[in-house]
Amino acid sequence: MRGIAAVPSYVVMQPTTLCNLDCVYCYLPMRAVDRRMPVPVAEAVAAAVNPWAAAGRFSVVWHGGEPLAAGREHLAALLAPFGPEVEHHVQTNATLIDDAWCAFFAEHGIRVSVSVDGPRERNGERVTRGGRPAYDRILAGVAALRRHGLPFSALAVVSRPEPGLATELYDYFLDLGCDVLGINIEETEGVNTRTNARDAAAVTGFWAELVGAWRRDPRIHLREVEWSLRYAGAVLAGTADDLLPRRLDPIPTVAQDGSVVVLSPELAGFTDPRYGDFSSGNVLSTPLAEILAGAGRTPWVGEFLTGVEACRSSCPYFGFCGGGHAANRYFELGRFDGTETEHCRNSKIRLLEGVLEHARDHESPAA
Ligand code: SF4
Repeated sequence: MRGIAAVPSYVVMQPTTLCNLDCVYCYLPMRAVDRRMPVPVAEAVAAAVNPWAAAGRFSVVWHGGEPLAAGREHLAALLAPFGPEVEHHVQTNATLIDDAWCAFFAEHGIRVSVSVDGPRERNGERVTRGGRPAYDRILAGVAALRRHGLPFSALAVVSRPEPGLATELYDYFLDLGCDVLGINIEETEGVNTRTNARDAAAVTGFWAELVGAWRRDPRIHLREVEWSLRYAGAVLAGTADDLLPRRLDPIPTVAQDGSVVVLSPELAGFTDPRYGDFSSGNVLSTPLAEILAGAGRTPWVGEFLTGVEACRSSCPYFGFCGGGHAANRYFELGRFDGTETEHCRNSKIRLLEGVLEHARDHESPAA
């Protein structure tokens, strides 16, 4: 894997900066402000995306802020320029989902992913602007999805990963009815400056227990565990070198004003005296394909690619991780050419160690 691919596999779009919640660990800098994406931004992105989608599978992920806070009418206007081959996904806090939104998702073929951190007592940091728990409103949104027979994914932030929690979480999500689950260990990122340094054994134990819970009833696609098992299988088969893509997926995030940040959506909306606003261009003045072709020349991106090479030459987990995320390096280390972060320890190294711990504890040696 070297350099950045010219064509991404998906694009992240920010229909509004606004979020109707105010979660304690949120990284978004402008979530109290309603700046909506003008339709010409969506038209410019669709001009690049439609041919890519015609040539192969391609997704647009609507991410905020809270994307539903843009309203159905405006979201429909933003969706209109995209061709029928484009797959649409929305990452939502679910609190605004009702029957009308479910009809909208069905009409536009939008796949929904809900942010919820587990049972009520695990959602204490998902709160409204007035500081009130959002849990009942999240569940009402999930109930609407289920009433309409709409499949959905779930994304859970885990602030304190430790043994004992993983089974509780997995059982909760089995009951909730999601078919895909992603687990994000809380990150020090954006305006969330809380430390994410955690006890190594506790985090490894959390992941090991999660593997066990999943193996007992693997009805849910458990994102992190399935990645890890695929990697472990490839190592055993001697094909691990083929797993990483030949080039990094640029994952362009198109902010509401049309500016494009590659590799890490979490950098959008921030500025730095050394790196400026992190953007590689704006789709209102430059075609997206042209922006991506030149993304490697964005100063911070070059520094990040140096960091990826440092990971490659120093880290035994590189074949699994591929060099981590730009935003974690920036927000934890203050620059892009470092290597280990608390994020990669929690979410890559200890994840893989947890899978191995589970295997050591539960698999008998071959006869
Ligand atoms: S685990 Fe950390 S140090 Fe290793 S390759 Fe990934 S980001 Fe780099």
